[in-house]
Formats: sequence, C-alpha cells, structure tokens
Amino acid sequence: MRITLLTGKTFDIQKALSMDIKIIKSAKAKRLTLRIDAKERLPILTLPSRCSGKRAVAFVEEHRLWIEENLAKIPVAKRFENGEIISVMGKEYSINHCPQKRCGVMIEGHELIVSGAKEFLHRRLCDFIKKKAQEELLQKSQKLAKKINCHVNHVSIKDTKSRWGSCSSLDNINYNWRIALAPNFVIDYLVAHEVSHLLHQDHSREFWQCVKNLCPTAAKGRLWLKNHGKELYLYE
Ligand SMILES: [Zn+2]
Repeated sequence: MRITLLTGKTFDIQKALSMDIKIIKSAKAKRLTLRIDAKERLPILTLPSRCSGKRAVAFVEEHRLWIEENLAKIPVAKRFENGEIISVMGKEYSINHCPQKRCGVMIEGHELIVSGAKEFLHRRLCDFIKKKAQEELLQKSQKLAKKINCHVNHVSIKDTKSRWGSCSSLDNINYNWRIALAPNFVIDYLVAHEVSHLLHQDHSREFWQCVKNLCPTAAKGRLWLKNHGKELYLYE
C-alpha cells in the first residue's frame, strides 16, 4: 500500500518491508496494531490516519519475529489423499483413488476405493466416514446406554471445531465426525463419556465413575484425545 504522508510524499510500506502484509488505514485507530489473519495466513497492520510510513515500518520490523512465529503456528488444514492410511471407526484402510470406477466409496479388504474426480476425493470420503460414524456410534451409544438403563433418542454427526461430543436433555447425542478417525479405545471413551451424561448432566465424581464403569480404559482414551485431538481437527 502506498500511503500519502502529511508532507504530501508517498511511501510504500510493503516495499519497504519486503513482506506480505495487509494494511488497513483506519481513521478510528488510535495506535498501530498488528494481528494475524489465520485464514489468509497474513499479518494485518492497522494504521491510524496520522501515522507516518516510516513509523509503521519500524513498528512492523520490531515485531517481525512475533509475526514469523505466529504465522508458523497456524496449522495447515488436511485433506484426504490417495495412498494415505487412515483409521475409520477403529479399522485401518489405505485410500485408493480409482477415478474410472463408479462405486462412490467402497470398502474392499483393507482399502477404501474412491471413484470420481480427484477434487471430490476428500468430500466423498468425508461423507462416507460421517455416514459410517453415524451408524456405528448410534449402535455403540445404544449398547452402553442400556447398561445404565438409559435410552438414546438420536445420534447426530456434527462438524464442530471445538468439541468432540455433546448430550442434550432430550437424550440426543452429537458426535464430531473426526472422532471416527481416532483409535477404537478413544471412540469407546467418548461414547462412554456422552452416554454417562444421560445419567449425570455434570462432570461430577459420580459422572466420572459412570464413565469408568462403562469404559475401563477411559483415562487412556481421554489422554489420547488431549494429546492427539488437535491432529484430527486438522482435517477440513
Ligand atoms: Zn462432558
């Protein structure tokens, strides 16, 4: 951006910085501020109208390290790829893209055969995994609910970025579709967790005891989610 200085001269901030940066000139801004736009993977500098270009450049230079560190921290979204090995509801499959076939997505032994154009591979697999997750998580939830004399009305698969599951007062359970990509003991923990909420709406001692009764390896599953959950969230 070329800004006009009070002296009437123009000054190119981006050129002076030799960095990709978005500059927003704001009459309301009282001071120079920097933030990172994670979606665009760009630093954004807000510039008060009475700020000189040189001061802006100096300000960004002072924060160059901060910018670089924070840009590097933005995770790269993942999409399923041909040849990738993924776990779906506790079973491992390798993705085999067969564009000429007309099967949609099909399981063949240890392979997930995906037909159609390459650009639809990720979406097709997501839809397949969500459907499979819905069926199997419903079964698992109903089975565990029976053990504590409860009933599950509905199981829905959600695409939230913040939670793995939730249980409503109407005995409906929601699961994040990405849980289908976790190992079996993790899925079992999450199901035990949500099913226990049918009985206890809190995270009390009694609640955790119920989780443990339904899933003796709950602690291990919970720890796995805490440590590796982020990796599953990378899938778009
Ligand atoms: Zn909970």
